[in-house]
Amino acid sequence: MNCRELLELLSEYIEGELPPELRGEMECHIEECPQCKLVIDTLKLTIKLYNCLEPCTLPEKIKEEVLGKLKALHERRKHGTFKG
Ligand SMILES: [Zn+2]
Repeated sequence: MNCRELLELLSEYIEGELPPELRGEMECHIEECPQCKLVIDTLKLTIKLYNCLEPCTLPEKIKEEVLGKLKALHERRKHGTFKG
């Protein structure tokens, strides 16, 4: 699983609707990918805050926000100190 696949399954993961095997794959990825871990931690916190306001599933806006954040992180790494 890569970061993109993980993001596509993010809402199911957060809502607990992911099949156990995919959930396992996702957790393996999180172990190795601090960026995705950060995204999920942030997302969980955001969902918690949102759920205080209204009971709802993962809002599209949040998903886009998280996606943008992850992209920014990858961009920064690409243009960072590492060359080649
Ligand atoms: Zn990742």
